[in-house]
Amino acid sequence: MNIESLEALALKNLPLLDGKRFKHVSLILYKSTPISIGVNKRKTHPLAAAYKYRFHEVHSELDAWIKVKDRCKDYTLVNFRFGHLNEWRMARPCALCMPWCKELFKEIYYTTRHGMVREV
Ligand SMILES: [Zn+2]
Repeated sequence: MNIESLEALALKNLPLLDGKRFKHVSLILYKSTPISIGVNKRKTHPLAAAYKYRFHEVHSELDAWIKVKDRCKDYTLVNFRFGHLNEWRMARPCALCMPWCKELFKEIYYTTRHGMVREV
């Protein structure tokens, strides 16, 4: 996993998050290759309601997962969260996302202030 190139890809998607306080970007990888990118959205989606999100908003993990067509493979989730200077912040999936993420993803990685960590 090349974290630098994944971070560059995540940063490229930040303009989609104009005005957001927390800049979350989720990448879904298949065999180290990004196949889907998601960002936090205010729009609704039936899956967001099914997973009981407040106001049915779509978190970045779900936004990325919605776009995956073949859902039968072993995927890796990589979550980035950026501060206002694009410094890394804690991006561990929230309490609503984590259960289904653990069910669906083979591996989960996320940024913290101190680096990238793997969920165990
Ligand atoms: Zn979440």
